Amino acid sequence: MKLSCYASETARRALLASLCLLALGGCGGGKDVAPPDLDASADARASALVARMTLDEKVQLVHGAGFGSSPLRGGGFIPGIPRLGIPDLNTTDGTGGVSVEGAEATALPSQLGLAASWDPDLAFAYGAIVAKEARALGFVELLGGGINLIREPRGGRSFEYLGEDPVLTGLMATQRTLGVQTHPIVSTVKHFALNGQETRRFDADSRVDERTLRELYLLGFEEVVKQARPGNVMCAYNLVNGTKACENAILLTDILKTEWGFQGKVQSDWGLAVTDTVKAANAGLDEEQPGAGPVPNGFDGFSRFTVNLKSSVQIGAVPAARLDDMVQRKLRGLFRAGVMDAPPTPGGRIDREAGNLLARQVAEQSMVLLKNQDRLLPLSASIASIAVIGGHADAGVLSGGGSASVPPPHGPTVACRTPGATKGNLGFFSACAAWYPSAPLAAIRAKAPQAAVTFHSGEDAAAAAAAAAAADVTVVFATQWQGEDWDLDSLALPSALTDPSNQAYDQNALIAAVAARAKRLVVVLQHGTAVTMPWLDQTHAVLAAWYPGAQGGPAIANVLFGEVNPSGKLPLTFPRSEADLPQPVIPTGDTVVYGEGLNMGYRWFDARAITPLFAFGHGLSYTSFAYSGLSIHDGGQGDVRLRLTLRNTGSRAGADVVQVYASLPAAANQPPKRLVAWRKVMLAAGASTTVDISVPARRFAVWDVTAKAWHVPPGTFGLQVGGSSADPAQTGSVVLAGRRL
Ligand code: BGC
Repeated sequence: MKLSCYASETARRALLASLCLLALGGCGGGKDVAPPDLDASADARASALVARMTLDEKVQLVHGAGFGSSPLRGGGFIPGIPRLGIPDLNTTDGTGGVSVEGAEATALPSQLGLAASWDPDLAFAYGAIVAKEARALGFVELLGGGINLIREPRGGRSFEYLGEDPVLTGLMATQRTLGVQTHPIVSTVKHFALNGQETRRFDADSRVDERTLRELYLLGFEEVVKQARPGNVMCAYNLVNGTKACENAILLTDILKTEWGFQGKVQSDWGLAVTDTVKAANAGLDEEQPGAGPVPNGFDGFSRFTVNLKSSVQIGAVPAARLDDMVQRKLRGLFRAGVMDAPPTPGGRIDREAGNLLARQVAEQSMVLLKNQDRLLPLSASIASIAVIGGHADAGVLSGGGSASVPPPHGPTVACRTPGATKGNLGFFSACAAWYPSAPLAAIRAKAPQAAVTFHSGEDAAAAAAAAAAADVTVVFATQWQGEDWDLDSLALPSALTDPSNQAYDQNALIAAVAARAKRLVVVLQHGTAVTMPWLDQTHAVLAAWYPGAQGGPAIANVLFGEVNPSGKLPLTFPRSEADLPQPVIPTGDTVVYGEGLNMGYRWFDARAITPLFAFGHGLSYTSFAYSGLSIHDGGQGDVRLRLTLRNTGSRAGADVVQVYASLPAAANQPPKRLVAWRKVMLAAGASTTVDISVPARRFAVWDVTAKAWHVPPGTFGLQVGGSSADPAQTGSVVLAGRRL
């Protein structure tokens, strides 16, 4: 079955529906799914149990049992209370798949790749399959995924997040969370909030003004919490404006619980997130993880709750009612998710076929064609010779590192150059990248069986360049590895100097050497974030493949050879150089000052009139699209409706992401534009369609720090519609009355 090049929206939805049936046990359509019923009975059943619990039982339920304590090898564990029918509570990381050694769960492409698809339905299916597999393995809580905005592209966890824009992040995360909740498992969004870099992640203080906090960094969380109602919100390690995020009453109680109405539980990040039991508990923390237990590498996994929550309640420093509320929230989430009525049985089957199908589809939809000079791509199957170079393309595809990494099924396919080496603030994480055995080389050979396809590892740049000179087309694979707990020094492709564990040579030098002799050169990137490209002008084509997951090899080949028409768009800006970023170097001190305020990501580039290497929302196609006839209508209640015609003017079926940006009235003192809506539209060759997009009033709002409320400023709003933030294919404006939301 051809998965990704839908002739029409109907065909695409039909495909997703069948995926849901096949792979997910039924999940409905992404955007059309109403948030799950809050299930009022969950509250009643939870409070009936709380009333029967002893103090010790209550305390037991609100902290983990320590690192490595999960019998299922998950990230966390809380023993059950059989007399009350509370099952053992195993928790697993599951950002891009279940992160359990030996589980052989599906490794999906990174979340950043998912964001690059701009496809909410895929986000829904993505969440559903991770949840289904986690549940089959016996887990009751899923610690994924991260939704911090990528303020600092060198941040080690960029690949785990959904880009630099709060609306893209909020909508994709909402669908992902709704997808998770189609299975009886508790969903989580993390890391609340401002965990913007890994350098000093445990103790740096993120300092931000209130408007920026609300309009950028909390906005995605607000959207998910209100629209999808996740079971857990994980608070971050870092401080926010002087107070640890997990001890921050403004964040946890005033905003999250009171203002947004969050009824789930706040769970700490794993150790070192809490310094003071009383402060954390009274600020609104409901569960501390991972709790006391074995401490690998000397890491202090000490749990404050384990040691002194009980005594703090006994002396009244933490009110008994606060402890009851913690337990209530925990149990309520378990009832609501369906865990209490049907606890999971470990050892269930993983449907590998369904997982691989979705992994490939997400990978194909995520890829962003950055450059395609002289329409070099797609490659013809009848091409006579291809030189494939570098990136371990003969062995597999790269995965990001840390807790979001899904262990490859049969161990490493690429040997680490420094086995046993570690990285990070605490030296806790491996310095060795993981690779999935899905070799692009084999997939390319399968696409062009008649072609002479050679492979060079890249270690000998002269030999690689000679092979390139002899081939009709050269495809260089380049890799950028990143992971949790450490940041990249730069966005340059790593070399043997900057990533000695995983790189044997200087990738930029290799590409330059090959480019000097290749007839036609394609660079395929496997990366966690933006990449700088000093060699860009010497290439014909560049394909951003992110960390493409377990089916990365065939997915890359399908895009290179045109079986799939690329439709991904960048979820973050690619700068020309780090000097163009708001912070040219990553701060290493006690504070990280968000001094650029609202001008983050593309807003920064717009405000400073800096031309990026590739703009937010950029992505080419093998076909072309024309926009016409934009009309703007009053949608009622302050909403705005846009209508336009989109035509596929090329000779292939393909999808474009119709992006809508708004410029607020000058008096609002805002960055030049913000994303307010989008729609991904599939069109057959030559076809055209009317595209209707509704923009809710809240997308035009700003945070009023005096009134502590959202309001839409009165005046004229510019609207820009196109296939990239840098492409105002159609423009218009709308006058809105001021409105408090
Ligand atoms: C990470 C979390 C993760 C947790 C459990 C922490 O180091 O920051 O994202 O869920 O570990 O593995």
